Amino acid sequence: MALNPRASAPRPFKVVDVPGKGKGVVSTRAIQAGELVLAEKPLFTAGLVRPEASLAAKVAQLSSVDQLAFYSLSIAPPSTCYGPHRARFDTNALPLGEDATEAGLFPVGARFNHSCRPNVSRFWEEAAGEEWFVASVNIPPSTELTIYYNALDSPRAERQAYLLRTLGFKCTCERCDLAPDEVEKSDQRMRFYAQIEALIPTLFAEPHKLVTLAKAGLNLLAEEGLHTGAAALAYDAFQGAAFAGDKEAAKAWATRACELKVRETGREAGSYKRMESLAADPTRYNAWGFLGVKRQVPRP
Ligand SMILES: [Zn+2]
Repeated sequence: MALNPRASAPRPFKVVDVPGKGKGVVSTRAIQAGELVLAEKPLFTAGLVRPEASLAAKVAQLSSVDQLAFYSLSIAPPSTCYGPHRARFDTNALPLGEDATEAGLFPVGARFNHSCRPNVSRFWEEAAGEEWFVASVNIPPSTELTIYYNALDSPRAERQAYLLRTLGFKCTCERCDLAPDEVEKSDQRMRFYAQIEALIPTLFAEPHKLVTLAKAGLNLLAEEGLHTGAAALAYDAFQGAAFAGDKEAAKAWATRACELKVRETGREAGSYKRMESLAADPTRYNAWGFLGVKRQVPRP
């Protein structure tokens, strides 16, 4: 079963030395937004409790080529207190999905450096058992491809503290390097965004408010130049419209969610296809018209 036919095509990037960052990933041709640039199965996975001996045993079972890939991975300063296997795993592993306790080691994916305004989205595609890396924007040739490690939607001080604590580096990405007044504006946007994220789950009986807030959240992400999380907000707005039984608005929000989701998952992901089917017929949503009375909500 070929879930991702492009995975076997030549990769549109190469792994190179990036000054000041060790290894990094650079595009070898123009890459379009929504293009799957890498789909990779983990060398192995581990849970939150991962003693050195159990990781060493997993590595010992790998082929010699995979062992070489493992031992060539870097170790971040905060992980040097662990044994060589745990240290490499903690430095390089990615969680298998949002809020997952299981993490996987992706030897090529581990070469992507972090940016707080990444040009590549990553996510765990459960059906394929792979981590997918998708271009969020059109990327010119010879451009570094970046992903986020964590804390993308926090104020700068929180993002930097997290990266310093867990990976031992001070982020100097374009968003962290803004002028002080721009940083203040960015931080305010992220604080407002956090409030919106907290409020939305409480508003499903008030679809007009919910959609209005989701729309405000989308504007904040757009101003911030962030793509991760945008499709989820448009989906929240879709749900508000669906609860209210506003078919026209629901269709428009599902269509908007698809446009945004392409930049996070590409068109081949299962979650994208589910969104596409809701855009074709929003009344397929399992809680369609949940509020019982038809109400109008804002359009995108
Ligand atoms: Zn940064």
